Amino acid sequence: MSRIRVLDPSVVGAIRAGEVVDRPAAVVKELVENALDAGSTLVAVHAASHPERSIRVQDDGAGMSREDALLALRRHATSKIESAEDLSRIRTLGFRGEALASIAEVSRLSLSTRSSEDLTGTQVEALGGATIQVSGVGRAVGTTVLVEDLFFNTPARLRFLKSREAEIRVLSRVVWNYALTYPRVHWKFSVEGREDTDLPEARDLVERWEVFYGRGSEDGSAEFDHEAGGVHVSGVLGAPEQARASRDYQTFAVNGRVVASATLAAALRQGYGNLLPRDRYPLALVLIEIDPAHVDANVHPTKREVRFRDEARVFQVLRRAVDASMRRYVPTGISFGDAGAGTVGEPVQGQGGYQVDRGGSYPVATLTQNAVGTETEGALQLALEAGPAEAGERERGDLAESLGEPEIPIWQLHDRYLLAPIRGGMVIVDQHAAHERILYEDARAHLYSGTGASQVLLFPRVVDLSPAELDALLMMEPHLRRLGYEASLFGERQVAVRGVPASIPEEAAIDSLKAVLASVDTLGEGGDPPEEHIAKSFACHAAVRSGQALSPVERRALFDRLFATSLPHGDPHGRPTYVRVSMEELDRRFGRR
Ligand code: ADP
Ligand code: MG
Repeated sequence: MSRIRVLDPSVVGAIRAGEVVDRPAAVVKELVENALDAGSTLVAVHAASHPERSIRVQDDGAGMSREDALLALRRHATSKIESAEDLSRIRTLGFRGEALASIAEVSRLSLSTRSSEDLTGTQVEALGGATIQVSGVGRAVGTTVLVEDLFFNTPARLRFLKSREAEIRVLSRVVWNYALTYPRVHWKFSVEGREDTDLPEARDLVERWEVFYGRGSEDGSAEFDHEAGGVHVSGVLGAPEQARASRDYQTFAVNGRVVASATLAAALRQGYGNLLPRDRYPLALVLIEIDPAHVDANVHPTKREVRFRDEARVFQVLRRAVDASMRRYVPTGISFGDAGAGTVGEPVQGQGGYQVDRGGSYPVATLTQNAVGTETEGALQLALEAGPAEAGERERGDLAESLGEPEIPIWQLHDRYLLAPIRGGMVIVDQHAAHERILYEDARAHLYSGTGASQVLLFPRVVDLSPAELDALLMMEPHLRRLGYEASLFGERQVAVRGVPASIPEEAAIDSLKAVLASVDTLGEGGDPPEEHIAKSFACHAAVRSGQALSPVERRALFDRLFATSLPHGDPHGRPTYVRVSMEELDRRFGRR
């Protein structure tokens, strides 16, 4: 490293002045930047649990001669620039020659260093900016700076510090940001009593990134690299589903300097487009390489912000690069395949021989007549508090027989219950529970054995999905296809539903699709296999609601289908689907007996 000189006052005048050190994190930032400027391959940062009490940064960089070590603590003493023109050629992180002096002024600072040309090192002790001791020291090539009792002589500054948790959080961000930006450097970071990290040299950005944020998606993290108009942008972008509620996990560096930049943050966000909800921020590491003449690092006293000569161009280049990289998350070609090809559940007419008009009303009569495999009965019975199977069998026979008679009326009570006379009394059916039982058995049959009948929609329905729903959709795709859904991704956050289960109206089918997707959250709870779980949630949401008027034909179909199920007594959750009231009971209640 070239020799340190004190800058000419004319150069000093061109430098943005201001407070460099306002909190412990600022000390870490300046010392880490110095270590990187010295070409270090190892940077070790240690902070006390109250970081203002002690911060130590140790490196294996070029080190300093005795002469330089003494100059280093002087204001405007730097080895990095000489003239004002150099300001437009800056390749180093530091250039003002102020940091060490500013830190030394408000602390007890100890600097120990040795360059490769020297056999012994130098140790300089300073208190409040005054050098109090200089001595020789045996040490390895490199530099160690220890800063203790920060702000001991500026109590107002001390009082302005946030909680030690907050200070450590900010300080940690400084280290992590640089560790992400410089993967070839071996980083060590410890905070007394809470943090002790060792990050050996990584192969590249992605390897370092994945230590922090994981792989992101199946095919790894999204690395990007793009150059246009003299602006080179590269880095790693988090998968949309990794996005966080704050911007804390975004790192921007310009020519190796970690900075905050509203321009870069906005370009990043726009590049993700509508892959992210409004209040989510992607994880990102964005590195910009640009001619130093086109960027001004000298706008802010702590160089935290930079200004580009052509903000619009940098914005464009980054936004486009991010946008292009995000296409990997928009798999527009996925389809549920050829649903409806199978005709296992071909709709048939209801037992009564009538046709049901599908237009708008519930086509319960078009439900399929699939018999449910006997091997499923055992499991179902466990869910029900029905009487012995035999009794159920007999009862169903009776009911079906009674109802089979041509002119039996079925009344609807308050759009909720269906009432019908049967031999020896009456039956009251809960229309929702009954339909749920029917759809549940249908769904199970389709899920276990084949493909449900699909009705092709004349106009595909475009449904908005959240990222979680989209995930669920991809996961449940084979099941949904068997239920009779045919859907394909359409745009980034939408699916086009082209086919729905034939047994229910379009509206209910769309509602149940969403319900099934939401049910993925509770998948596995209660020990249900996925088919069971999906069948239940599908049936519950597809079933006719309580409060819905049914035509006489629909009522009839509901009765027919209910008593054709394997277990008509209860819905999939074990609640009763119908209640029988005998003539004896009515007689008793009317005092006839
Ligand atoms: P600047 O980084 O702006 O030059 P500083 O006050 O941070 O100013 O440092 C002053 C000088 O001390 C630097 O220019 C550099 O020559 C030397 N220096 C500081 N830290 C180190 C280090 N860790 N290793 C080698 N040299 C250093
Ligand atoms: Mg510096």
